[in-house]
Amino acid sequence: MSTARALRPDALEDLLQLMRLPGLAGHEQGVAAFMQERMRPLADEVREDRLGNVIATVRGSDPDAPVVMLFAHMDSLGFIVRKIDDDGFVRIHRLGGIPEKVLPGLRVEIGRADGSTLPAVIGMKAHHVTPPEEKTRVNPIAELFLDVGASDKAEAEAMGVRVGAPVTYAGYAERLGEHRVSGTAIDNRSGCLVILETLRELHAQRPKATVHVVGTVQEEFNLRGAQPVAQALQPDIAICIDIAVSGDTPDLRPLSDISMGAGPTVNFYTFHSRGTLNGLLPHPALVRGVLGAAERTGIAVQRATMFGGLTDASYVQLVGEGTASIDLGFPARFTHTPIESCDLRDMAGLVALLAAWIGDIDANFDFSRGVAMP
Ligand SMILES: [Zn+2]
Repeated sequence: MSTARALRPDALEDLLQLMRLPGLAGHEQGVAAFMQERMRPLADEVREDRLGNVIATVRGSDPDAPVVMLFAHMDSLGFIVRKIDDDGFVRIHRLGGIPEKVLPGLRVEIGRADGSTLPAVIGMKAHHVTPPEEKTRVNPIAELFLDVGASDKAEAEAMGVRVGAPVTYAGYAERLGEHRVSGTAIDNRSGCLVILETLRELHAQRPKATVHVVGTVQEEFNLRGAQPVAQALQPDIAICIDIAVSGDTPDLRPLSDISMGAGPTVNFYTFHSRGTLNGLLPHPALVRGVLGAAERTGIAVQRATMFGGLTDASYVQLVGEGTASIDLGFPARFTHTPIESCDLRDMAGLVALLAAWIGDIDANFDFSRGVAMP
């Protein structure tokens, strides 16, 4: 029943641009500037709060309609410079859920005080002299060193390297096959693109409900930005857009049936289970709403669950007297690596689904929990 939908060509260009922008948690200025520039012609008001969250508001025609917050995090994971060695090598801490397996041999970018970036590589012992027992060993981050091309510490400092500087995977984005994109920060610049495109649709149709479209900060740093912005906006309905782990690679087939290109995802369960014990069980009224919109529009959706991860929605649900919250998204492969990928048709489907659903929300929205989860 899926109707083929495509992103606007300009939106695809925006996505590729967003994926290439450095935007480590706590260092989202470049992404925030891009978002605001795109939001300005599409909203009644665009502002940035003290923490750097970017908020575009479309005022609804019905003041009695529930207030909606549609949000996606703008930041990405990466590293922080912890030390510059006397011989000019740069040492790092990780920031966020970095897979240590992929790091040696990678190109990265170090942020400088003027907003520019410095290219660097993560070193790896010359293969010719690597003993067999080391070939299958994963190097812990503490052992890794970045080469910026400097001969000593003073030269590295003169190049703009300083302790505390942000480091991200070298930005890269390209089409992969006919319908997919591959590169850095698909998590969650693709979500940023989805909320921008939904804002475009909502601005054109003038919804009954007031909608705040929000790019949040510091999600990869234990989900810090979304909660304060939700406290300020006090939404009745919170819709979080983030990637869902695709189950259609040989290694993950036993995990789930989530597949690239099979449609947007509706998440019924997230639970982190490690550093934070937070997670989200979505509000049944929102599940009912989005499944109803999927039915009406003929957009196929995939039912997803996630053990071992969570999103900003986990904290937004705790705001005020409780915010009805839901996680929506689309499948992504190779998450948190520099070669994440997703399917453009799933993103386009999600934009159409959100525009149809949110455009329909009015003062009669039924918040009852019903007899069971749909
Ligand atoms: Zn994410």
